[in-house]
Amino acid sequence: MINTKEIQALDSAHYMHPFTAHRELAQKGARVMVKGEGIYLWDSEGKKLLDGMSGLWCINVGYGRKELADAAYKQLLELPYYNSFFNTTTIPPVQLAKLLAEVTPPQFRHVFYAGSGSEGNDTIFRMVRWFWDLEGQPQRKVIIGRKNAYHGSTVCGTSLGGMSGMHEQGDLPIPGIAHIEQPYWFDLARDTDKDEFGLQAAGWLETKILELGPDKVAAFIGEPVQGAGGVIIPPATYWPEIQRICDKYGILLIADEVITGFGRTGNWFGCVTFGFKPDFINFAKGVTSGYVPLGGVMVGERVARVVIEKGSDFNHGYTYSGHPVACAVAIENIHIIQREKLVERVRDDTGPYLKQKFEGLKDHPLVGEAETCGLMAGLVLVKSKKPVTMFDPKLAVGMVCRGHMFGNGMIMRAVGERMIIAPPLIMTRAQIDEMIDLIRFCLDATLSDLQGRGWMN
Ligand SMILES: *Cc1c(COP(=O)(O)O)cnc(C)c1O
Repeated sequence: MINTKEIQALDSAHYMHPFTAHRELAQKGARVMVKGEGIYLWDSEGKKLLDGMSGLWCINVGYGRKELADAAYKQLLELPYYNSFFNTTTIPPVQLAKLLAEVTPPQFRHVFYAGSGSEGNDTIFRMVRWFWDLEGQPQRKVIIGRKNAYHGSTVCGTSLGGMSGMHEQGDLPIPGIAHIEQPYWFDLARDTDKDEFGLQAAGWLETKILELGPDKVAAFIGEPVQGAGGVIIPPATYWPEIQRICDKYGILLIADEVITGFGRTGNWFGCVTFGFKPDFINFAKGVTSGYVPLGGVMVGERVARVVIEKGSDFNHGYTYSGHPVACAVAIENIHIIQREKLVERVRDDTGPYLKQKFEGLKDHPLVGEAETCGLMAGLVLVKSKKPVTMFDPKLAVGMVCRGHMFGNGMIMRAVGERMIIAPPLIMTRAQIDEMIDLIRFCLDATLSDLQGRGWMN
């Protein structure tokens, strides 16, 4: 038997967790996860949970895949590590590079490996500036990102991202990064036409470019769908207009696909779903389904040609760039996605089915909006619907709802008043039914709780 209390005591005595308030953690004790199978997790008290978040957006092929464990084991015995610095390589990163060139859009033939999504963005930041130096335009330095974007937690990733709470710790962003408002229709413009709003929101990029000076701007970075920001799905008009503006000023376009890559939106990459052609794709999470850490940057031919032909050494790289074990797992993970046709399944079957079921939650008194993209979805908790009245953010009703979800065996994340999911791509229709029933049950529990507190009208 696992002694939960003992683990919790050791945890709070020695383990500093990411994104955690430690005094609160010490009081409550961490929930200890001990096993996973398919879309389910078990904690140390034997409680079963439906993992609506795929871990942290990464367990795309589900827990307990023996094929992935075997791929790692085989490579660990054969050659656990050698680096790719100074004209050497191992075999798995080469084979994975070929596979990635096949599953990414045609403008991509080259990959630079990192160990995580944050590191990938650091690589992009440096490669973008190197590219413009080689192009004879070293004054192009500024990268434009968006408010409420998440691009990781290193100094550079935090700076590119637009989370104000993260910027406050450490005097960020670093110089050379600017931000525009996010394309969040429900929050900013729910009384107007969605497609019109998409064009308007993309127009903020052009305004910022003109303000900074078009010859100073190096690149624009965005997540096709903002994940950590709350599954903010942009209007269909948004990305094609962003593309047009980037093209007009010759600015590089970076898609941070750490969440949207590898089938999440119903195509291999979100840029395909939203119809734009980036110069970089940053990936991580789903590339190995989170079984081992791996990230990387797909470098489009426009940049690759210049840095390969004109560049000398790129004075940049990580000890674990192209780690053979991580790459071996990634290869098998992509093979599973291909064999089980998970991308097609999300696009043609489970994605549309989730959409129908999840949007059906709009009839619940607490739900002001419910939307999906592939197998990611978000709903907004509101105090009343006609007209829409939001809760006081200080009440943190999202966290109240999250508590009821966890308590009843459903992992759903709260971002302010947005409740979000991104379940494993192996999910079946029957499991979607089970999940929607659970969510509805927990929304009911949340509603009576909020009524009991006197927080409803
Ligand atoms: C998670 C995430 C990152 C950071 O990835 P890490 O592996 O945690 O460094 C970067 N960008 C996006 C879009 C993410 O969702």
